[in-house]
Amino acid sequence: TELKTVDHAANRTQFGNKIHSYGTIQEKLARMAMLHYVTESMAYMVSGNMDSGATEFQIEAAISKIFASEAAWTVTDECIQVMGGMGFMKDCGVERVMRDLRIFRIFEGTNDILRLFVALNGFQNAGNQLKALQKALKSPVANAGLFAGEITKRVKRKAGLGTGLSLQGSIHPELARSGDLTVKAIEQFGAVVEELLIKHGKKIIDEQFVLKRVADCAIDIYAMVVVLSRYIVQNRKRSFTKTHFLVTGHFHSK
Ligand SMILES: Cc1cc2nc3c(=O)[nH]c(=O)nc-3n(C[C@H](O)[C@H](O)[C@H](O)COP(=O)(O)OP(=O)(O)OC[C@H]3O[C@@H](n4cnc5c(N)ncnc54)[C@H](O)[C@@H]3O)c2cc1C
Repeated sequence: TELKTVDHAANRTQFGNKIHSYGTIQEKLARMAMLHYVTESMAYMVSGNMDSGATEFQIEAAISKIFASEAAWTVTDECIQVMGGMGFMKDCGVERVMRDLRIFRIFEGTNDILRLFVALNGFQNAGNQLKALQKALKSPVANAGLFAGEITKRVKRKAGLGTGLSLQGSIHPELARSGDLTVKAIEQFGAVVEELLIKHGKKIIDEQFVLKRVADCAIDIYAMVVVLSRYIVQNRKRSFTKTHFLVTGHFHSK
């Protein structure tokens, strides 16, 4: 549908110009390419992890299914939009794609249930870490090293300082700001998850408004990470695609 959209936008003339010369059409094309690129990057990451023998990829697979099915829906919807009235008609073929795509958000686990799965699994891991910390509290002297680390982390967080996590040196200098924003998002996410767990305890399972938002944050952060990771690999191999330039150009302009 993306190629069909580009082809139509390059050939359709309205108000004296090809419609691909208009900003709102260009933004649609850029966002479509971006969603395509992120979806591809998620698929590469999950399949790469599976190929290298990882056995724990359920959360990543759920995130990828949610993102891919929603990206495909949005891209097809925007394709129809760019094609105007013609896109809506049966002859054009895109409405069939859209109708067929609708089921992807329902089967193999509805995206709503998968969001709950992503959030609750994440909370379970965070909860286990907090439990280990609680257990260690019972013999603070023997666990002095662990406490020092945890206390430093929380004090730094309260003071608005980073935890020391950094992607600098791993990513291209052009994407340093995107790397910093990703690290900041991860740190804030960790703090929020911990606060929510302390606030709700086991009852977090019934807090679906919260769980949905936590899952959305996890999905967005994972999207940021897989794109940066792909950039690092492609930069090493110098094997950039046309979409890559379009997408990273879009990042830079933000
Ligand atoms: C074309 C097609 C092919 C299919 N192929 C297969 C197949 O090959 N194998 C197979 O096993 N199944 C298959 N299915 C079934 C599909 O997986 C289910 O339709 C899907 O899992 C949703 O279940 P449901 O229809 O019972 O909806 P329900 O479970 O009734 O859900 C209805 C709505 O409520 C929400 N909901 C449900 N429970 C909760 C909750 N606890 N909290 C919050 N929200 C909730 C859901 O997210 C959804 O939005 C297919 C379905 C279709 C239409």
